[in-house]
Amino acid sequence: MAAGNDAEVTSKAHRPRIVILGGGFGGVYAAMHLERLRRGRDDFDIALVNSENYFVFQPMLPEVISGSIGILDTVSPLRRLLPRTQLYIRDVVSIDVINKSVVLSQGFRPRPHVLAYDHLILALGTVTDFRTMPGLHEHALPFKNLADALHLRNHLIHVLEEAAIETDTELRRQLLTFVVAGGGFSGVEVAAELNDFVRRIAKEFSAIDPPEIRVVLLHSGSAILDRELTKELSTYAGKMLEKRKVEIRLKSRLRTATPDSAVLETGERIPTKTLVSTVPSLPNPLIDSLQLPKEKGKLKTTEYLNVPDVDSIWALGDCALVQNPSGDGFAPPTAQHAIRQGNVVATNIVAALRGQKKRSYSFEGLGKMGSLGYRSAVAELFGGIKLSGLLAWLLWRTVYWWKLPGLDRKLKVGLAWFLDLLIPPELVQVKLASSQGITQSHFEPGESVFRQGDLGDSLYIILRGEADVIREENGSERALARLHGGQFFGEMALMNQKTRNATVKCVSAMDVLVLRKGDFRALVSNLPDFRASFESVAKQRSESAPSVSAKDNPG
Ligand SMILES: Cc1cc2nc3c(=O)[nH]c(=O)nc-3n(C[C@H](O)[C@H](O)[C@H](O)COP(=O)(O)OP(=O)(O)OC[C@H]3O[C@@H](n4cnc5c(N)ncnc54)[C@H](O)[C@@H]3O)c2cc1C
Repeated sequence: MAAGNDAEVTSKAHRPRIVILGGGFGGVYAAMHLERLRRGRDDFDIALVNSENYFVFQPMLPEVISGSIGILDTVSPLRRLLPRTQLYIRDVVSIDVINKSVVLSQGFRPRPHVLAYDHLILALGTVTDFRTMPGLHEHALPFKNLADALHLRNHLIHVLEEAAIETDTELRRQLLTFVVAGGGFSGVEVAAELNDFVRRIAKEFSAIDPPEIRVVLLHSGSAILDRELTKELSTYAGKMLEKRKVEIRLKSRLRTATPDSAVLETGERIPTKTLVSTVPSLPNPLIDSLQLPKEKGKLKTTEYLNVPDVDSIWALGDCALVQNPSGDGFAPPTAQHAIRQGNVVATNIVAALRGQKKRSYSFEGLGKMGSLGYRSAVAELFGGIKLSGLLAWLLWRTVYWWKLPGLDRKLKVGLAWFLDLLIPPELVQVKLASSQGITQSHFEPGESVFRQGDLGDSLYIILRGEADVIREENGSERALARLHGGQFFGEMALMNQKTRNATVKCVSAMDVLVLRKGDFRALVSNLPDFRASFESVAKQRSESAPSVSAKDNPG
């Protein structure tokens, strides 16, 4: 998206600005190191853009499912972690590498925001994108961020509550079958925590017989964690989960999902109302859109972690392809690498700004660890040391607890783990209202529904009241039309993906139905009649002046 005249532009101050995209492990540790390096000199500015205002400590996220730690214990507010960084809690919409700027999504006021940079750090991670597999987008649950963990936990309690009163045998079977797709670290950890949780809380539902519960882990390989660990440890992990009644289905690939089942590539249907998928993990679409050197969807990097031949763009973490210092293979997509890469990128950008020597990335990894739920884990440490069971679990907890950013989080998690030994897990289901679908809005006289130049984000249908369509031209305002109850407006900018070409200002108190852009576009692309009727109204309007002509229609 071009910046244009209608965007809010944050141009550079006199100091160079380093803009970090992504507030995960890579982005946050880069920002923290930059803050340290800037101390006492203040010779550059740091800005960080992230969709949420918190940093997620993903290794502990699966524990939110079982409630062994509190919902907010795995996250830390970015503002507290990065007090000297300018935060933009927005989505990155596009990146312009030629003009060295980034376009951010709208805030309360629907305008794009353009942020100029001198150095850009790309730390956008990957996405679990279900759109490549039919049915998953509609019927599978992702597991990547705090909202996913909270949603899954609520869903699990909900299906157990339903199962407790359901008399239909088939539906009951679906409700009590839980399927997790993906036998890598995150899939295994999710399956383990989910299994512990449903079996523990099911004891409080007298109408549920424990053998009715089925937890199925699907994996395309010949052993779970076969890509991550040695054969010995991956076999141990499989046996441990099976002992805890997790049904492991190897060489099984998910093909699609329906409201009632997970369908495998073989055609087999597993009846379920709960399908969690940690696959496929795909490149972030923003990274995909960049005309920069890539391999396997990841940005190529030099030993200093800048993108080859581009001195001002740096990439790290899961969205980057970073060669191991030995020259053999690439750094795996793990937090420990993202953290070290963040430190190296920060050091090298400051070196570039101050004319100092850069540092190459030389971290080989300290080992790999994965939790298997209740007091069990597997660990493969630097130097070939292998641990499993309780000892590995204690090590897992100690290492990750130590790595949690901030003393407050350490205290909260430590206390939550202690209480979990004494108190049964929480059973409360929090019903979160959905912001999707049609909503209603009220405006008072003189208020604007939207302004000329705003991004088109919704279609409006007037229930009651009137509004004027006003266009600003050369500093003066011209009233184009008056809109009444029963009319709609705002579709032009949605259909043409443009900004609003006029302002709509209420002349009396007005109530409108609001259809959001995503819902509008879904209807327009899937219902030819719906699209045709909008196109025909636009045509009629253009022909029937002086009402709202197409030219004047506030799109
Ligand atoms: C459930 C789970 C468990 C894991 N367990 C472990 C483990 O035990 N050990 C381990 O080492 N690793 C683990 N990992 C992997 C580890 O978390 C990742 O390797 C690490 O987070 C990568 O860091 P990153 O900064 O590259 O990406 P991320 O941490 O994913 O951060 C990317 C950030 O970019 C933001 N973002 C993306 N697109 C946009 C946009 N358009 N606009 C604004 N913001 C955007 C996201 O919101 C996110 O905050 C786990 C991952 C998951 C999902």
